Amino acid sequence: MSSRLRNIIVAATLAGTVSAMNISAQNVSNPAGMSSTPAPFDYTVDRFADIEVLRYKVPGFESLPLRQKMLVYYLTEAAIAGRDILWDQNNIYNLPLRRLLEAVYTAETTEHDAEQFPKFETYLKQIWFANGIHHHYSTDKFTPGFSEEWLRRQISRLDDAPITDAAPLDTLMRVVFDPAFMAKRVNQAAGADLIATSANNLYEQGITQPEVEAYFAAVKDTTQAEPPSYGLNTRIARNPATGRIYEQTYRLGGLYSPAITRIVDNLRLAADYAESPAQRAVIEKLIQYYATGNLRDFDDYSIMWVEDTDSRVDFINGFIESYGDPLGMTGAWESIVNFKDIEASGRTETLSANAQWFEDNSPVDPRFRKEKVKGVSAKVITAAILAGDSYPATPIGINLPNANWIRAAHGSKSVTIENITRAYDEASHGNGFNEEFVIDKPTRELLDRYLFITDNLHTDLHECLGHGSGRLLPGVDPDALKAHGSTLEEARADLFALYYLADPKLVELGLLDSPDAYKASYYKYILNGMMTQLMRIEPGKDVEEAHMRNRKLIAEWAYEHGKRDKVIELTNRGGKTFVKINDYEALRRLFGELLAEVQRIRSEGDYEAGERLVETYGVKVDPKLHRQVLDRYSHLDIAPYKGFVNPVYTPVRDADGRITDITVDYTDDYIPQMLRYSRDYSTL
Ligand code: ZN
Repeated sequence: MSSRLRNIIVAATLAGTVSAMNISAQNVSNPAGMSSTPAPFDYTVDRFADIEVLRYKVPGFESLPLRQKMLVYYLTEAAIAGRDILWDQNNIYNLPLRRLLEAVYTAETTEHDAEQFPKFETYLKQIWFANGIHHHYSTDKFTPGFSEEWLRRQISRLDDAPITDAAPLDTLMRVVFDPAFMAKRVNQAAGADLIATSANNLYEQGITQPEVEAYFAAVKDTTQAEPPSYGLNTRIARNPATGRIYEQTYRLGGLYSPAITRIVDNLRLAADYAESPAQRAVIEKLIQYYATGNLRDFDDYSIMWVEDTDSRVDFINGFIESYGDPLGMTGAWESIVNFKDIEASGRTETLSANAQWFEDNSPVDPRFRKEKVKGVSAKVITAAILAGDSYPATPIGINLPNANWIRAAHGSKSVTIENITRAYDEASHGNGFNEEFVIDKPTRELLDRYLFITDNLHTDLHECLGHGSGRLLPGVDPDALKAHGSTLEEARADLFALYYLADPKLVELGLLDSPDAYKASYYKYILNGMMTQLMRIEPGKDVEEAHMRNRKLIAEWAYEHGKRDKVIELTNRGGKTFVKINDYEALRRLFGELLAEVQRIRSEGDYEAGERLVETYGVKVDPKLHRQVLDRYSHLDIAPYKGFVNPVYTPVRDADGRITDITVDYTDDYIPQMLRYSRDYSTL
C-alpha cells in the first residue's frame, strides 16, 4: 500500500439526520429579479437508483472582489477541464461508452417507450454519477435494466454512431451487459491478484500484481528520507517489443495531454489574478509539474501550496487520492476550488492554536506522540466547484498533502467544506430517519440540537488534528499495515476526534456550549457504525470500503469491550433493533483505549494486530441485522448516496469585451449539466 494517508472524509452522517438549523434564503440568487421575496432554496435536484443529487449554495461568492472572482472562475474552468481524465482512469471503455450512450440518449430517432427507455436513462444517470461503469463507492459494475436488443436497435438508428476501432461495438455491449467482464473497478479481496482482477485503467490489461510489485521494488529507493510519491501520476503499460512493463506519465505531451493542456491554459489565466506572488508561484509550479510530470516538481508544489496559508481563494487540482488503485499508488484526478469562510474558520483556528495541547493530553503512549506538532493549518471553506474524483460525490473534509515527509516537515492543510455539510443537513430535514432509528425523543432532541455542530467539529478534529497526530517509531515502514493501512488510519483520526469531542477543553475554548453536546455525535456514530451504514451494503456482502470498515470497527469494538458494563446495548422493540447508550463517559474511555491501541499498531507497524482488529470488528456483517436495516430503510426512501451538481459561473462583459463581473447561478439540473460538460469539456 501507499504511504500516503487516505484523508478524505466521506459524509459521515450518511442519510443525514441532523439539526434543525433555519434556512436563510438571503443568499439564494434570483436571476429573474422578479420577486422581492426569493423562493426557498431547493436543494434536491434528482433521485434515481441509490442516489440523490443535490445542489449547494456558494454563500459569499457575490461579495468577493472582482479579482478573486476572476481567480475562482479560471480555476473552476481548469477544474471541469479535467473531467475526462478520471473517466479514462476508471476504465478504458468509459469514454467511448459515454459518447455512444449520450448519442443514443439525445438522438431524435431513439424510442422513448415506457418500458426500456426509463431504465436506459437510469443507467446513464448512474454512470454519469460514478464517472464510469462502476459504482463510485462499491466499485461494482452497474447492472443495466434494459435489454441489449433494445440498445443495439437504437444504435443502429443513429446517423453516425460514435464507434471506434479501439472500442468496437461488440466490446462495448460486453462492457454493459456481461456481468463477469470488468466486474469490479477496485478489487481488495485478500488472496486475489489485485491488479489482474481490478477493472480500472491504471494498469494495462494483462499486467499482474507480482509484476507491478517487482517493478516498484526495483524503482523505489527505500533509504530516501524524502521519497517521491511513486506511481502517483502514471499508468503502468507493457512494452509490446520487450514485454516489460513501464510507466506512462500523465503530463503535457504524455498521457492525457489534451486534457492537461486545457487545464494548464486555464491555470495560466488564473495565475494573472493570484492574490499574492506566493500564490502565483504555487500556480506556476503546478503548471511546471503538469509539463514535466516530475514527482519532485509535485513535491515542491505541495510544499509551496501547504505554506501558502494567507490566500483567501485556494484549490486542489491534480492526481491526489489513491483509493482507486488497489495498490494505493496512482492518484485519481480531482479538483476542488474554494475560498475561506472567514467567520467559521475561527473554530478551526482555535483548534490549530491548541494543537500541541491536544497532542500532549492524548491517551496514547507518550513514546508514540509527536513532541512538536507542526503547522496544522485548518480552515472552514466554501466550495465553489467540485470536479473529477470529487464530483458529483464529494468529501466534506480534506487534509493534504498526502506525502508523510512533507506533512512532518511542512505541515498540512486541513479543511472542512461547510457549504457542503450545510447542504446535506438542510436537505435531510423531515426524511424520517431519526424517527425510525433513534431510540427515543430525548435522544432525537439531542441530535437536533447538537449533531450539526458536533459533526462539523468531528470533521475539524479528524482532519486538522487526528491525521496529523502521533508518530512512527524510528525504522518503522509507513506501509507496514499494508491493505489495512487506510482503515486503521481513518480509525486513528476518528478516534482522536471522538475522544476529544467529549473533552471539557472544547467547552473551555468556546467551541461547544454544553458539556453534553458530544453525546449527539457519540450516539450517531455508534448507530451508524453498527447499523445504519449497512444500508449501503448489498445483502450477503462484507464491508469493504475503508471509511465504513473504520466506523464499524470502532463501534463494534466499543460494544464488545463495554459489554460487561452494558455501556452500549442493542435493544429490541417490536422486532426493531435500537442502539441504547447507557454510559457515555465509559464510552469515551473506551474510545481512548482503542485510540491508544490503534496508535501503537501504527507507530510499531504491528501488522498482525492491525489485521486482527479490522477482520474481527470491521468486515463481517450480521445478516439478520443487515436485512432489518435494509427493510427499515426501504420504507423511508432515503438515498444511501448523495452528490451534487455544480453552480454555473458566467462572466459578464462590457462593450469592449472586458469582464466586469462573474455571476453564479444555481439553476442547472443534473442531466443538462452532464450533457453540457460532455459537450463543452470533452478533451480525450
Ligand atoms: Zn480521514
